Amino acid sequence: MVQAILLAISLLTFPPQSSPVAMTLDVDATDAPLKILHATATMPARAGAMTLFYPKWIPGEHMPSGPIANLTGLHVFADGKELEWRRDLVEMYAFAVTVPAGARTLTAKYDYAVPTGGGAFGSTASSNAKIAVINWYTVGLYPMGESPAAITVTATLKAPAGWKHGGSLDVDRVIDQPGGTTIHYAPTSLEMLNDHPVLLGEHFRSIELWPAGSGPGEHVLDVVADSDWALQFPQSRIDAYKKIVLEERRVFGDVGHYRKYHWLLTLSDNLGSFGVEHHECADDRVAENTFVDDDTAKRSSLLLPHEFFHSWNGKARRPAGLVTGGYEKPMKDDLLWVYEGLTEYYGELLAARGGLISAKEWIDELAADALAVSEPGRTWRPLQDTADSSPFLYLAGGGWGGWRRSTDFYQEGSLIWLEADVTIRSLTNGRKTLDDFCALFHGQGDNGRVWVKPYDAAEVYDTLNKVAPYDWKKFFETRLRSKSSEVPSGGIEGAGYRLVYTDAANMFTDPWSLDGGLNAYASLGVHVTDDGTVDNAWPDRPAFAAGLSNGMKIIAVNGRRFSTDELKRAIEGSKRSTAPLEFIVENGSYFKTITIDYHGGLRYPHLERVSGNADLLAEIAAPRVK
Ligand SMILES: [Zn+2]
Repeated sequence: MVQAILLAISLLTFPPQSSPVAMTLDVDATDAPLKILHATATMPARAGAMTLFYPKWIPGEHMPSGPIANLTGLHVFADGKELEWRRDLVEMYAFAVTVPAGARTLTAKYDYAVPTGGGAFGSTASSNAKIAVINWYTVGLYPMGESPAAITVTATLKAPAGWKHGGSLDVDRVIDQPGGTTIHYAPTSLEMLNDHPVLLGEHFRSIELWPAGSGPGEHVLDVVADSDWALQFPQSRIDAYKKIVLEERRVFGDVGHYRKYHWLLTLSDNLGSFGVEHHECADDRVAENTFVDDDTAKRSSLLLPHEFFHSWNGKARRPAGLVTGGYEKPMKDDLLWVYEGLTEYYGELLAARGGLISAKEWIDELAADALAVSEPGRTWRPLQDTADSSPFLYLAGGGWGGWRRSTDFYQEGSLIWLEADVTIRSLTNGRKTLDDFCALFHGQGDNGRVWVKPYDAAEVYDTLNKVAPYDWKKFFETRLRSKSSEVPSGGIEGAGYRLVYTDAANMFTDPWSLDGGLNAYASLGVHVTDDGTVDNAWPDRPAFAAGLSNGMKIIAVNGRRFSTDELKRAIEGSKRSTAPLEFIVENGSYFKTITIDYHGGLRYPHLERVSGNADLLAEIAAPRVK
């Protein structure tokens, strides 16, 4: 129904003879520390009804996450004369105006009020006193109905005085003035502009991993941080990322489909922890200490290889349901088990091949993936539905993740694509691997040219068949439709390992930015935040069975005031005690005592070698670039 209405709008506003549209977009980020961006967009006026649109379905985020609520201060003018605007009652990202006859230029002035929390990925908190990450789609009103690929935009960005800038967008010239630095970008399409975020910051390093003209071509690590301290990371870290570029390109047969590639890395404790992929760059955000602290660096090691892998798997080769031709058109996320699942497998694996983590640590990461998806919700929601539902699952909060499931196609995808890799190796006696599939499926570029080639599931199965003949459709569909409580462990077992639980910690069960919480899924079946709130209690596990549910808050553990350390000690001590664990719990404004008759101690996932079988994981993790 919405699509039909949109079609009517586009016919009204853009006659069939529509010609390529040229617009300008000037963004003033000098107030970024005040968390507000000012924008002015100009475009040719067309007499009669015109509609301005704010990007809604955001590539890489897989959902209608354009931050429309934060579009503020809107005024629209035709040749300087202010027009009234009215929001569409059904498509609320669309603003209708009536342009008087003879008007030549339509100008929209507006602000993007930068969220201070909440939001999704690129539109979560994105500026502070020292940093601004500019995602153009958050400041990007444009004439609705025209393909973003057919709109030419000449953009400028004004940064606070003294701040530096990074990104892979082509720069025409930079003008430094006392009130700020204005970057003039070369004209590009609206689609390309929105795919090239810009990093601004006072504390900034641009590290050329490989220069233009080198074998792999221009690959740069642009890093902005809350402090200079966070930028003083060791040369060994830079050397490892140089290697990541080579290892990653080797998977695809050293073929790229980008002109240059920049990682935009934000090191801050208050601008989120995530990554969003783009064709020629990625918006990656981690904790401030990530590159100076080895432990944090390892826990987030998958991120940069993951986003870089997306340049092939997700941007150039893209599921047909995600190639929509316009930000108003809904995306279909059913193939995210390829888009994200395969990328998760390789993001973790390439961190090992490139030396960011050891092979042993990669193996621990696979074990942590297995724990993450072992939640009881897998008995009712098949993996396929976690992909189909991702437009709302990404942001689903308020507890209950273990029963609802989450975007499990990441971690479970890692296990399933491991199994595909192991299966190919076994079918071909080690002559072929999953890398051969990637080279065949993704490695089709033409260096220096940016392209997108859609695919469907059948092409995935056909290409796998060319690498190793097998019933791949059945292989994947069985796993995508399963409602078993068992996690898919065929890859782990086929590689000569088995999943075990011990009391030895596994660093990958904790989030990248340590949040002070406790992951006790494998013992009590809960995750508890640092203030004692139970933010995920898995049904059918000891804590829930005893009456501890989502949203309750643990006040005391065995008679002592709650802290995560106290809770950890109590679980650890449970194996030496015959008495049950005793919690005082707050539920709304009521208190109660809950006893949990649990004696298993702390439990963390690991993979253990099965003697007599070949160690395929060591083989898979071995670097390919000597
Ligand atoms: Zn991803």
